[in-house]
Amino acid sequence: MLPHAVTAERRIKSSVAFARAGQLIPGGVNSPARAFGGVGGEPIFFASATGAHLTDIDDNIYLDYIGSWGPMILGHRHPRVVAAIQSALMHGTSYGAPTEGESHLAQLIIDAMPSIEKVRMVSSGTEAAMSAVRLARGFTGRDKIVKFAGNYHGHADSLLVAAGSSAATLGVANSPGVTAGTARDTIVLEYNEPESLEALFQSAGDTLAAVVMEPVVGNMGLVVPSKDFLAAARRLTHLHGALLVFDEVMTGFRLSYGGAQQILGITPDLTTLGKIVGGGLPLGAYGGRRDIMNHVLPAGKVFQAGTLSGNPLAVASGTATLELLRDAPPYELLERHGARLEEGFGIAAHKAALPVWIARQGSMMTMFFQPGPDVLPVRGWKTASLSDTARYARFFWGMIDRGHYMPCSQYEALFFSQAHTDADIEATIQAATEVLALLT
Ligand SMILES: *Cc1c(COP(=O)(O)O)cnc(C)c1O
Repeated sequence: MLPHAVTAERRIKSSVAFARAGQLIPGGVNSPARAFGGVGGEPIFFASATGAHLTDIDDNIYLDYIGSWGPMILGHRHPRVVAAIQSALMHGTSYGAPTEGESHLAQLIIDAMPSIEKVRMVSSGTEAAMSAVRLARGFTGRDKIVKFAGNYHGHADSLLVAAGSSAATLGVANSPGVTAGTARDTIVLEYNEPESLEALFQSAGDTLAAVVMEPVVGNMGLVVPSKDFLAAARRLTHLHGALLVFDEVMTGFRLSYGGAQQILGITPDLTTLGKIVGGGLPLGAYGGRRDIMNHVLPAGKVFQAGTLSGNPLAVASGTATLELLRDAPPYELLERHGARLEEGFGIAAHKAALPVWIARQGSMMTMFFQPGPDVLPVRGWKTASLSDTARYARFFWGMIDRGHYMPCSQYEALFFSQAHTDADIEATIQAATEVLALLT
C-alpha cells in the first residue's frame, strides 16, 4: 500500500466538502490548525486511517506525519486500543460518577512520571493548562504568570498571549477577545534566554505564581531548550516560591515514556498532559506535587470540574495506549527513524543548496527554511519566525502531491509513529529529495 502521487484534480470530493463546511463551520474547520492557512489551498478531508496511513474522501492515501498532531504514537487504530474502546463502549459511555478505570489510568501516569504524585483528569490539553494555571495562582496567592513566545498551551485567555501553533501561523498570537487585564497578568519572555528570566525574577519574583513552558517546544516548530535555560527556570521558581509548570501535552509519552522531564532530568512542580494520554480520544490531565494537588476541589478550594472528565471511553483508550508504550517501548525505534529522517532531509537540502535548520528530538522534527545564507540556530520565536514560510508552503504541497502528509505550517513539528516502517521513512526522504530540488 504505497502512497501515490496526488494532484489537485484528485481531491475533488475534498474541495466540495470544504465548500459545504465553509457555509456551516467558521473557516470550514473545527480547529484552525487544520485550515491550511500557513500553506494556502484547501484542507483535505479524511475518511479513515490505518497504521501510518491516512485515506482521504477521494481515496488518496498518504503517509501520515502529523499523527493527529501528536496522539497517534502507536499508529492509527492499533488493534489493542480499538479493542479497549469497544469493550468500554459495551458497558456505558458516561456516568457522571467515578469508575475504577480512572484510578488505573491515574496510577499509570503517576508511575510514568515521578514528579506527579496526584493527577486530575480533564478532556483536553487546553483544560489541563488552564486548570494548572488557576491552581498555581490559588496555591501561591499570586496573580502573574510567565510564558514564552511561541509556546502554545491551548486557548485559555491567560495563555493566549504571544502563543504558538496556529495562533502564530495565522498571525493572531494575541487574539482579539483576550482582555487587556488578563494579558497584563501574563508576562512573555523569549525562550532559551536565561538572562531575561533572571532579570524578571530579580525585579518581580515575589509576584509570580508560575513559569509555564513547553520543556521541548513543538508549537513554533521544534525548539530544544538549553541546559542553562532549564536550570535557571527550575532554580529561580524554587528560590522565589513560584511553581514550574511543564506543559507536556505534546511531549508526554512522546519523547520518552516519562516525557521530556525524564530525558532532561528536571522535576517540575506541575505537569500538564493531553494528546497521547488519551490515545486519540479527548482526554487531558494535570498533576504534580501532592501538597499542591490537594488544593484542587473537593480536596481543597481551587475550583475545577468537568461533566465528561475521566470519560470511560477516553480512559480505556488512554490506558491501552500507555500500557502498550510501557510494555513495548517504541522509543528506540522512533529515535532511529528520526535520526535517519533528519539525516536524509539534511542531505537533500544540502544537495539542493537550500539553507535549512533542522531541529529534532526523538519522533518530533522541524526543518526550518531560514532565508539567509547563514543558518541561525533556532532558539526561540525571534529566530524561528525568520523562516521562509512561502518556501515551506511549496515544500508542503510537493510532499502532498507525492503522498506524504506533513504539518500544514512551518511552525508545527512533524510526528511519526511506531507504525512507520524503514521503507516509509526512506520513501519520505526520497520524496523530500525530489521536492527540495525543485525549490531553489
Ligand atoms: C496541543 C497542545 C495543547 C492544547 O491541547 P488541546 O487538547 O488541543 O486543547 C496545550 N499545550 C501543548 C504543548 C500542546 O501541544
